[in-house]
Amino acid sequence: CGIIGCVGREDAAEPILSGLENLEYRGYDSAGVAVRNGSGLDTCKRAGEISALRDTIRAGLASGPVGIGHTRWSTHGAPTDANAHPHADCTGDVAVVHNGIIENHADLRADLEARGHEFRSETDTEVVPHLIEERLADGLHPAAALRDVLDVLEGSYALAVIVADSDELYAARRGSPLLLGIGDGAAYVASDAPAFLDATDRAVFLHDGDVATLSADGYVVTDGDGAVVERPERTIEWAP
Ligand code: GLU
Repeated sequence: CGIIGCVGREDAAEPILSGLENLEYRGYDSAGVAVRNGSGLDTCKRAGEISALRDTIRAGLASGPVGIGHTRWSTHGAPTDANAHPHADCTGDVAVVHNGIIENHADLRADLEARGHEFRSETDTEVVPHLIEERLADGLHPAAALRDVLDVLEGSYALAVIVADSDELYAARRGSPLLLGIGDGAAYVASDAPAFLDATDRAVFLHDGDVATLSADGYVVTDGDGAVVERPERTIEWAP
């Protein structure tokens, strides 16, 4: 339902939680945040309200400069803690949030399970971190791994991804909205501009098939083949 990601802020959890609160008007049944803490990924996710998540995170679960957050409106799998996003791979080194539906998730999951992957949720989304995990194990850069995974996904999606050994954030879309927010020394990705408008009004709208790499220094957008594409930066009118 709602996606927010952030890179370059001292404590990503704070702008992510604020972003999720600014997306609450869209409705949701679960929420979650994953943050890179320097040695790995910390994830906190819950069925229910963002306020419950905020208390747990502020109690010290996650702190670091790269993170992603999600408000879920369930389509595949009941609104439980396990089905809330972010979803991880087997190693716990990949975290993914997703809006939309992966139509061919059952076939992809059967193939992954046949190759030894163990699933922890009933969502269509969880195939994505496992598919990325296989490509990282093959030595692909995370952005190339994400591009490669998009080729096997059918359906509509907006995705944001973090991995344990990178201080970048990766994002892709097809059929679901996703835009970047460009700050000073920080970058954001979101399904809807209110998620980052507290921080910046400079936005870059992604096109279907785009894959974006965000870092504290800026961003690069490529098409599905990996060729760099230019997307215009626009100022979002702040409508209080
Ligand atoms: N299909 C995914 C799920 O059910 C994502 C739903 C959403 O867009 O929030 O978990």
